[in-house]
Amino acid sequence: MTDTTARAEQIAERRREVAEQLADVERQLAELRALRGTLNDDDEHDPDGVSLSSEWSRLEGLRQAEVESLAAIDEAAARLSRGDGGTCASCGRPIAPARLEARPDATTCIDCAA
Ligand SMILES: [Zn+2]
Repeated sequence: MTDTTARAEQIAERRREVAEQLADVERQLAELRALRGTLNDDDEHDPDGVSLSSEWSRLEGLRQAEVESLAAIDEAAARLSRGDGGTCASCGRPIAPARLEARPDATTCIDCAA
């Protein structure tokens, strides 16, 4: 197996994980939306309403992070399929193998990511 094949598999694996997490967060958001619909909208005076709102913000933040991760993973996969998956998108130098192992979806070297 070539390094590129191994990395493509790591990226695919990571993508599955993130897609599952995203689906999970979206399920929780849907449940929260349904729950919210059964309560009145008086968040200011209803302690449950306040906690629902903060839970909502937390889940929305998580969802946004998962969506961004997926985009980064897709970009890494596209770069890999073009044959430049091992070089930094910013400075063009090779990305350290240890970094690619830890983060198969990395598109920049450790210096540029910092
Ligand atoms: Zn770089």
